[in-house]
Amino acid sequence: MKKETKINTTNETTALLDEETIETEQMAEFPVELVMPENPFETFITEELKASHETETDLFARHEGIPAHNQEILQKARITQIGSGGLGSYISLGLIKSGTGLMTLIDGDTVERHNLSRQFFYKEDLGKPKGIRLAKNLIHHAAGGATITGIGLRFEEAIEKVPLPAEIFVIGVDNNACRLKAVQEARRRRIPAVFTMLSGDGMRCQVFLQGASPLDPCLWCALPNLNPEKILPCASAIISSCFLASAFTIFFVHRALMGWGKIEPFNWREADLSGMTPDHKGTIRKRETCSVCGDL
Ligand SMILES: [Zn+2]
Repeated sequence: MKKETKINTTNETTALLDEETIETEQMAEFPVELVMPENPFETFITEELKASHETETDLFARHEGIPAHNQEILQKARITQIGSGGLGSYISLGLIKSGTGLMTLIDGDTVERHNLSRQFFYKEDLGKPKGIRLAKNLIHHAAGGATITGIGLRFEEAIEKVPLPAEIFVIGVDNNACRLKAVQEARRRRIPAVFTMLSGDGMRCQVFLQGASPLDPCLWCALPNLNPEKILPCASAIISSCFLASAFTIFFVHRALMGWGKIEPFNWREADLSGMTPDHKGTIRKRETCSVCGDL
């Protein structure tokens, strides 16, 4: 059973006041199993904010002139994002702000106090599923109107239990097993996928656009040394690197959906906040010896 919540964007305060208030201190050692909802899906819907007068400037007027931009495509495409943490918070915010109409957010983690230093959550979200709470927080930013579904499950569980319609996957997670599953699932569906990653010191980001075709390179063509078995240590992250990575990711999502126009296509972007390593833009080619592509 899917629970649907219609939120009036002009009544945000009331919506928040209706929430159960949870003290940060009380949640510190609260067992995750006890705060998982019985139903891990929730959908939030809001209508387009209409102009008050016909002469008012269009909501997306400043997008006119952006190469290859097509607002209608963005409004109709279903974007499914895996990960609702530091990267997913601002990727999804940018996508929703820019006019994405249909979005699904998947994350099996719950909001913890230390997440609030960079992720798009409030005190009221503590202890609750990230996927669902990010969907709830984002709906107030969907001036173009949107339907956002939050799923409080790990991606590997979600694809077993939910149909998950998607024109594109966006992946902002910190474990290679989930990335591998997303590579395989995107290939099986013949849809593009955008992967975004931060370096261990949180200074450098890498973003890769995996094309929809089996002839396109996969993430393991780009990064053959990623070990799907390895559990990654807790890496550093700060909001500035999350913003940097999110900008490149949103650009790739827009290009994958709308095309490139006069821009020369590429599939790899790498940049360093500190400037200690060179920024890089390029096109990764398919590796004939790639073990992951070979299995698909
Ligand atoms: Zn490959």
